[in-house]
Amino acid sequence: MSAIGLLGAGDVRALASQLGVRPTKKLGQNFVVEPGTVRQIAALAGPLRADDVILEVGPGLGSLTLALLEAAAPAGARVVAVEIDPVLASRLPKTIAERAPGLAGRLDVVEADALGLTGLGGVSPTLLAANLPYNVAVPVVLHLLAAFATIRRGVVMVQAEVADRMCAGPGSRVYGVPSAKLAWYASARPAGTVPRSVFWPVPNVDSKLVTFTRHEAGPPPAGRLEVFRVIDAAFGQRRKTLRAALATWAGSPAEAERVLRAAGVDPGARGESLGVADFARIAAAAPAARAARAAGGCPDAEHAGGDKLPRSSGLECVP
Ligand code: SAM
Repeated sequence: MSAIGLLGAGDVRALASQLGVRPTKKLGQNFVVEPGTVRQIAALAGPLRADDVILEVGPGLGSLTLALLEAAAPAGARVVAVEIDPVLASRLPKTIAERAPGLAGRLDVVEADALGLTGLGGVSPTLLAANLPYNVAVPVVLHLLAAFATIRRGVVMVQAEVADRMCAGPGSRVYGVPSAKLAWYASARPAGTVPRSVFWPVPNVDSKLVTFTRHEAGPPPAGRLEVFRVIDAAFGQRRKTLRAALATWAGSPAEAERVLRAAGVDPGARGESLGVADFARIAAAAPAARAARAAGGCPDAEHAGGDKLPRSSGLECVP
């Protein structure tokens, strides 16, 4: 394998100036200029197998792409990089050919908005690795986990506060919508902090790494969209009790109470104390509660299908 020339600060600036690129906040363009950081992210993506396809969102000038190719090559894995900026996307193959000539064949570059991605021309990504655009980091991760069931693991660099939310469990001050929705798909863990000095331009926020592993597949007892509606409603008014916070979603406070009781959840509790399995039981109980009300009865958790889910106090769930 030929030598790989990872990008340093001088390389990134020279490339940007050659291309006339002025990094924009809108696209979260803070490029990594420190080889140790991209190698650390690539190492966290491993161990890799020959059939692995790493999906990199936002390759930018190629800092992380080069490190991912360096890690992928010995295993025989591939990288597909999705970049929204046409100037960056069209230059990337040339940069890889110049700096890692033996590895260019392992890379596909797609010019697209990761938030709208529904397929990759028949390629099924197995891993996500990215220094994400910070303003859309959580939507990108959630969208890709929904769009590509084949993604089983990931490592992402995000704003520090967002990383804390992604990894938080019930009861934590920062537990909220991103935590509960990510927990629907995967268990997430903090994987280290990254100094501001590794970026150009230097951002005005701190950064952290997060790794996640998708839960073993299993049929969801309640539809994801309905579970996500419950999560949105519960945290939309996070200081209110669930009876009040879910009133609009359920139709009335009384109906919310009925559904919560059917799911085995205390109507006086707040969303921040529930795990994703609890939210799923609430979503699953709603149709049963409505049917029981129409029939003049009140279902218990077992009839609502709630017995299929463990009561969770952490991020694990049965998706
Ligand atoms: N990976 C490079 C690095 O580490 O130096 C660049 C990371 S920079 C934080 C984020 C990159 O994501 C930029 O190249 C930006 O153009 C790209 N980007 C922003 N929004 C995007 C989107 N919706 N879909 C795909 N790429 C996007």
